[in-house]
Amino acid sequence: MSYLDSSLKELHEALVEKKVTPLELTEEALKRAHENKDNAFEYIDDEGAKAFAASLTEPEKDNPLWGIPYFSKDNYSTKGIPSTASSNILNGYIPVYDATVITKLREAKAVLLGKTTLDELAMGGTGTTGHLGTTYNPWDPSHKRGIGGSSCGSAAAVAASIVPFSLGSDTGDSVRKPASLAGLVGMKPTWGRISRYGLFPFAPSLDHVAYFSRDVYSSAVLLDVLSGRDLNDSTSSTKPVDRYEEDLDKPVAGMKIAIIKEIIDSISDEEIKKHFEKSIEAAKEQGIAVDFVSFDKKLLESIYATYMVISCAEATSNDANLDGIKFGPYHGGKSYQEVMFNARDKGFSELIKRRFVIGSYCLMRENQEELFLRAQRNRAKIVAKVNEILRDYDFIYLPAAPTVAPLFESVSDKLSDEYLMADNHLALGNFAGLPSITLPLFFKEGLPVGINIMGRAFEEKKLFQIAAAFERASGLANVSILNKKEGNL
Ligand code: GLN
Repeated sequence: MSYLDSSLKELHEALVEKKVTPLELTEEALKRAHENKDNAFEYIDDEGAKAFAASLTEPEKDNPLWGIPYFSKDNYSTKGIPSTASSNILNGYIPVYDATVITKLREAKAVLLGKTTLDELAMGGTGTTGHLGTTYNPWDPSHKRGIGGSSCGSAAAVAASIVPFSLGSDTGDSVRKPASLAGLVGMKPTWGRISRYGLFPFAPSLDHVAYFSRDVYSSAVLLDVLSGRDLNDSTSSTKPVDRYEEDLDKPVAGMKIAIIKEIIDSISDEEIKKHFEKSIEAAKEQGIAVDFVSFDKKLLESIYATYMVISCAEATSNDANLDGIKFGPYHGGKSYQEVMFNARDKGFSELIKRRFVIGSYCLMRENQEELFLRAQRNRAKIVAKVNEILRDYDFIYLPAAPTVAPLFESVSDKLSDEYLMADNHLALGNFAGLPSITLPLFFKEGLPVGINIMGRAFEEKKLFQIAAAFERASGLANVSILNKKEGNL
């Protein structure tokens, strides 16, 4: 087994004991990235990564990220490294500054290897709409299944054991859903916990920096490094940053979790339900109180529509800067309007154009009340209900997705309860800005299925604590396609 397949903790110990150097690790990870066939990468920065890794010569015992290689989703600004958000409209764009999370990771001496594919501009959930085409799920070598999106390449890079963690972003579920389909831990903290300076905006009232790892410990130590107030992002929180890994081994007895009954009832896969029930039993054995609670079905069924109206409206407004003049290729034209039309016509795929049409329509003066403002009021109702549940319970606990990674050719009924509720409930965490973590539950015929736990705002430490308890129960810490495990549940 290579060091790259071991856990972050083991990897750190090996680095501290100088059994392996950052440069050796980086070279091996780069080799795996080049050999990978899942179409996960936008750009691999061989020279930059090797130069930085070579500069790391004295191990830092108390810095768990020292010398650890990682990839970033290509919607983060990286100085001197192409940043396209997998969109043709940004082809050739090389930023002049680093996103705050990239700076923080460099200061922690983690080694950036390059940029990963995404659904164009982080809109979408299939991993098929980026300008380089489809990203495949490493758990299915026949390439018949996706890994979800939009953070498809970042999920694939960690699941394929190329790097132990990667940066993604999560506006509706873009880290936490692919994490489920890839057997990974996917973490989205409280809105404002991590600075978004340098994250290309999609829908800022919903956007979060989020990330993948292969165990809860890594997820917690990453939050230590990534969090904090940033003067470049006025929405970043001034709340002090915790040591999020401190309580991982502490008992969880007495904690209370709620399960939304209507969402479970909408799931048709009996095997997923059975394993989910087993996990409830395992939780009870650890002294956790578990209750099924009810949530107005109409409200749950409205999550997707509410998300689409708000996110498309915000995206239309935010992406107005992509006009073919400031960034990306120039396609000519006799006037500003024509230059912009040509750039946007050639620069965006059908999915993006459709979303901008929806967004513009919802923002038109005559439609605003009926669509945009109504969606915002509905979001407030949904958030109120979520917070009501979280007054009585510490967490809301659900399967992260109702299925394993779907076949590309399969079509889901987008009006079914299963789709509207069980496939889209992760957006509750974005509506309410609450911390939410996905982790693996079991493998169904070789394909992972994840669970999701959502907690109260800024209670990440407690969220990691309970997530660690579920991880111990499942026995699925640090799985990847090169480190397959059976699991306990
Ligand atoms: N799948 C959702 C969408 O289509 C979520 C995207 C995201 O979280 N960036 O927009």
